[in-house]
Amino acid sequence: MSSEEISRIVVIGGGQAGGYACKALRGEGYTGRLTVVADEPHDFYERPPLSKGVVTADEPLPRLFPEDSLAALDIDWQRPKRASAIDREAREVVLDDGQRLPYDRLLIATGSRPRLPVAEWAELGRVMTLRTWDDATRLKARLAESRRLGVIGGGWIGLEVASSARKLGLEVDVFERAPALCGRSVGPEVAEAIRGLHEHHGVGLALNRQDIQLSEAADDRVTITADGEAHAPYDLVVVGVGVEINLELARDAGLCTEQGIVVDAAGRTSDPRIFAAGDVSQHPQLGLCLQSWAYAQNQARVVADAMLGKAAHYDEPAWLWSDQHGVNIQILGVPSGELQCVVRHEAQGPVFFYLDEAQRLVQMVAFDQPRAIKLGKRWIAAGRVLDAAELADPDFNLMSLR
Ligand code: NAP
Repeated sequence: MSSEEISRIVVIGGGQAGGYACKALRGEGYTGRLTVVADEPHDFYERPPLSKGVVTADEPLPRLFPEDSLAALDIDWQRPKRASAIDREAREVVLDDGQRLPYDRLLIATGSRPRLPVAEWAELGRVMTLRTWDDATRLKARLAESRRLGVIGGGWIGLEVASSARKLGLEVDVFERAPALCGRSVGPEVAEAIRGLHEHHGVGLALNRQDIQLSEAADDRVTITADGEAHAPYDLVVVGVGVEINLELARDAGLCTEQGIVVDAAGRTSDPRIFAAGDVSQHPQLGLCLQSWAYAQNQARVVADAMLGKAAHYDEPAWLWSDQHGVNIQILGVPSGELQCVVRHEAQGPVFFYLDEAQRLVQMVAFDQPRAIKLGKRWIAAGRVLDAAELADPDFNLMSLR
């Protein structure tokens, strides 16, 4: 297959993964037709600033590439349009306007969409989710005219929005179903530190609320009733309770899917001409959809190589960061199995190490300490055996373990 001529590549999805794949394809010397089907009208942009600087300041569209670099990619844009089917036999993508786009290689980078736990919440005018640039500009405008914000979901979106809203001077309450914040991605010790950070900055936290209901108050604001307790109405409610993976196209085309599209370490799906990248692709080693900026960017670059028939292998550990109340929180690795937590308290902030039975690093979370995370990446890659007492001792120089 690698000797087959490749002169038509179609990318479905104009997000971070789609953008970085296009850049890498051109960077690797691909000169054929490069078509991107995107359902938003905007150029490629990145999402992390949407819950932060875009709502707290006047940051412009966080473009992935400067305009001249983007023009040099010579993309045949199909936007705003949606792909409605993949005809694998004819090797064509069918668009919602009936157009058919032939491909030699296809990349599915369709991402995910915010989940709403109750469909009727979509009908409440002051309830919204955050995913796109248009959502973020709407959120910014609404925060400017609000005094009280309710947030449903104490995960990454909810906590970043809560932090931004406090910065703007709003009263903020977060309602979370689980007993801990960000409980799926970090251990209880880290969740507790994040809780302390938010409480310190005046965010009201209602954890372990199983039954959360929204209703329109008489003045058209929103009442949140949590486990039977009604709270004073909110001017705005942001829902951040996770995502649905945009799997439909792949599933309908008969590709192998589980949580996401099943891909190998080169991003190849069960059809050798079709690849997947970013949120929609299941991490080849972890078997879950990571939904992180770093994965979308770096895995997509690897996949681009593979699409051109080059040797390619993605095996980076999970890595994500979040900025909340002026603190940079970086998370390396995902928790799994029984782990020993070692906490190191430094002047800049705490570092949490989660070690397995063999004293190897599985996950690490650092508050305001990016250099420590860089070390952790090396330790994970090398499978380095660590000493818990050394890690916990703030007088022990971690850099000596480089
Ligand atoms: P998330 O991080 O998965 O958090 C969702 C939270 O909402 C979870 O704690 C979940 O608890 C809770 N929840 C679920 N259903 C609920 C309900 N009905 N009522 C109240 N709480 C409920 O998802 P997200 O914050 O919506 O973010 C969406 C995706 O974008 C995630 O994959 C996230 O990692 C990613 N993201 C990343 C960053 C970053 O890297 N800095 C920033 C923003 C978003 P359970 O665990 O019990 O379900």
